[in-house]
Amino acid sequence: MYKSSYLNNLLENVKAKYGEQKEFVQAVEEFFDSMDFFVNKEPKIEENAILERLIVPERIITFRIPWVDDAGKIQVNTGYRVQFSSAIGPYKGGMRFDKSVNLSILKFLGFEQIFKNSLTGLPMGGGKGGSDFDPKGKSDAEVMRFCQALMNELYRHIGPDTDVPAGDLGVGAREIGYMFGQYKKLTNTFTGTLTGKGLTFGGSLVRTEATGYGLCYFASEMLKTYKNTDFKGKKVLVSGTGNVATYAIKKARELGAIIVGVSNTRGYIADTNGLDVDLILDIIARNRREFLDEYLKIYPNVKTGNVSRDLWKTPCDIALPCATQAEINLENAKTLKDNGCFMVAEGANMPCDLEAIRFFNENDVLFAPGKASNAGGVAVSGLEMSQNSLRMSWSFEEVDAKLKGIMQNIFKNCYETAKKYGNEKNLALGANIAGFLKVYEAMLAQGVC
Ligand code: GLU
Repeated sequence: MYKSSYLNNLLENVKAKYGEQKEFVQAVEEFFDSMDFFVNKEPKIEENAILERLIVPERIITFRIPWVDDAGKIQVNTGYRVQFSSAIGPYKGGMRFDKSVNLSILKFLGFEQIFKNSLTGLPMGGGKGGSDFDPKGKSDAEVMRFCQALMNELYRHIGPDTDVPAGDLGVGAREIGYMFGQYKKLTNTFTGTLTGKGLTFGGSLVRTEATGYGLCYFASEMLKTYKNTDFKGKKVLVSGTGNVATYAIKKARELGAIIVGVSNTRGYIADTNGLDVDLILDIIARNRREFLDEYLKIYPNVKTGNVSRDLWKTPCDIALPCATQAEINLENAKTLKDNGCFMVAEGANMPCDLEAIRFFNENDVLFAPGKASNAGGVAVSGLEMSQNSLRMSWSFEEVDAKLKGIMQNIFKNCYETAKKYGNEKNLALGANIAGFLKVYEAMLAQGVC
């Protein structure tokens, strides 16, 4: 129950109307948690129905994706693009290909993206899309035909000033390349309509590393500000073996951390003396799926298990959940705290559930919400858009320095906003309010639309 009856009524309506969209409802509730006293201070929010408007996407496009597999059989998937908010810029956000994809997940991701993109300081609205296509076990030719089939419909809804998709789970450089090729063919234009492109056709250096590196830059600011320390000698757990986790492991190690546990969907490995990071990075690059088996062949004595979330039972100082949503629940949160973990920074989108977040905030565990700490990926996407518009490309060092500056600014903005509103340790509060303010002002200025 909130103090504000406006918020209580709204949340009740959201639950009644979208009750079955549990991920979306959680994202809205997590955001409302930070809005309780703020809506009373700012009566214009209610007067202008800002939140009512914000929780309904400007547009949702759902479409059929028919494609032919290698056996000559016709397959049909569902494609989506949720164009959530264009208040501060063209819709911007990734495409996710995973069999779990549904409207609830894409609405939650799109909603988060509004505030995340706002926090980067770059002019990007919020959007998200994807398909229930499962890339696992598909041939390269099948992935290409699928991406082309998807773009045959999506192309009419996107554009460099309208909506700029990128990657997310299951969508990397290969898929972006195929989608870009088909977009270019259909529109006969060479524009920066997709980000995460290959370096030879408009992609930006550091885009691949950006989310994982950005997470560590953000976490470093937390360590410095709250604890007057850094990553050196800290025991760190990282979940996931995808793009975000890979570069988080790499950067954390570079900053002096000891990686004591890593997981994927099949289980985890842990060693409180530190895992062999070079070997981990080598296996991930070659054979992500067999990651645990390969590691265990060389280090048969490390602790292991086939339940991924048991990773969180490993004693650590810092946890970086980088796999996917809902990987840390209340029980995992309590275990982490009991075993000495003092900081959790989200690399994935919403890996901690609402009860876990509330537990961290109430029990003195520093917590960084993904919309702030994983914004590095979309920030470099924004820099890719700038480079494309300028028809220029910046060096690795230039982009990395800009990324670092953006992550430091996001931290500062979240921290100072949290402090201003009475709880300097609550970065979720800071991120939600700071991200919201810019969107809110833009919405007020643009009238009822
Ligand atoms: N999918 C990433 C995210 O969740 C990046 C989106 C983008 O680069 O547009 O922020």
